[in-house]
Amino acid sequence: MTDRNQTLFDRAAQVIPGGVNSPVRAFRAVGGTPRFVQRAQGAYFWDANGQKYIDYIGSWGPMILGHGHPAVLEAVQKAALDGFSFGAPTEREIELAEEILKHVPSMEMVRLVSSGTEAGMSALRLARGATGRNKFIKFEGCYHGHADALLVKAGSGLATFGNPTSAGVPPEVVRDTLVLEYNNITALEEAFALHGKELACVMIEPIAGNMNFVRASVPFMTRCRELCTEHGALLVFDEVMSGFRVALGSAQSVYAKAIPGFKPDMTVLGKVIGGGMPLAAFGGPREIMSKLAPTGPVYQAGTLSGNPVATACGLTTLREIAKPGFWDALSARTQSLVDGLTGAAAAAGVPFSADCQGGMFGFFLLPELPQNYAKVMTSDSPKFNKLFHGLLDGGVYIAPALYEAGFVSAAHTEADIAETVRVAGEVFKTL
Ligand SMILES: *Cc1c(COP(=O)(O)O)cnc(C)c1O
Repeated sequence: MTDRNQTLFDRAAQVIPGGVNSPVRAFRAVGGTPRFVQRAQGAYFWDANGQKYIDYIGSWGPMILGHGHPAVLEAVQKAALDGFSFGAPTEREIELAEEILKHVPSMEMVRLVSSGTEAGMSALRLARGATGRNKFIKFEGCYHGHADALLVKAGSGLATFGNPTSAGVPPEVVRDTLVLEYNNITALEEAFALHGKELACVMIEPIAGNMNFVRASVPFMTRCRELCTEHGALLVFDEVMSGFRVALGSAQSVYAKAIPGFKPDMTVLGKVIGGGMPLAAFGGPREIMSKLAPTGPVYQAGTLSGNPVATACGLTTLREIAKPGFWDALSARTQSLVDGLTGAAAAAGVPFSADCQGGMFGFFLLPELPQNYAKVMTSDSPKFNKLFHGLLDGGVYIAPALYEAGFVSAAHTEADIAETVRVAGEVFKTL
């Protein structure tokens, strides 16, 4: 039988760099042939060979309702009939903004954009414009999109400024980006002691989903908040992945439960708020957001921002996930996956640790949950690759790299979870 995935991948490689439009899709980390998706429904998708998979990527998070949710489909089709794009405001943009603010009260205003990268880049510009400062802190292993100033890895010493992680990013552009170890309070305190008065913001993934799944500890987050407040720097939560994914109130609601009165100064959103369409956002207090054009001096714009079809998709998705019982059910389903995998690994004697929140999970072939990027990267990568391909051959599709999180949707059934755990159990025995 010819493998149509391979045929398509070869053809794609002739006209698209690496055959893909976003690098991780190319399976470079795990080897093998990427699956070309033909169609998807609920918790499943079918590849170019007609092979069915249980999908734990869900477009890297957005498909929290599963694929082809009837209410979302209807809203998108209806919106499309009324026009694709106007370059003029629409009522639905207000509705989506109001819906977002209702659930994430740290924000009083929000600006809609088209990608998480755009939202993160714009939030950083606004933080710099609002504070009149240039330097900022980010953490190793956190991804904030591919804007120049954010593609940075740690420099050689503690609290030194970073080096570009991509060719084409001039060192000058990342000169003001300080890269620290995640969950390291000492490094954070040292950085503030040295640069506190010059820091525009601390940008963080509160529950990091781009180094698999790593939570900022409560003491670490408490210190982030205290030091930012003390030094007049803004605490910027990049919740592009965690927003409306780990809880209706996003990751900040999880920290607000543990830290009385806690809230970030600014929030960056994407993924779920678009429900699978190109839509993202950033927001914060009125005072900060008013500094954006046209009311303020910080420029930001977008031809397709607040796109009417994308807002229909996002708004309907948010209304569905705000319904009573949604989060209890989703959290229970995700927890049962994590428990099942943990049990199967233990039965096979495979070192394993896992964590989850709401509809997002991560697991490691490590005996204990790692607290930072360096620890995540000590995972046994040949073993992970074997696990990945074993699952794939068994019809279970997880992220093709050990530093990515996983996602459960409302369409995943207990039977899907049981089948996943069964397949994983078989593969664990071979590791
Ligand atoms: C996905 C992601 C981004 C980038 O969003 P794009 O829409 O891919 O540009 C930024 N930050 C975080 C935390 C993300 O997970």
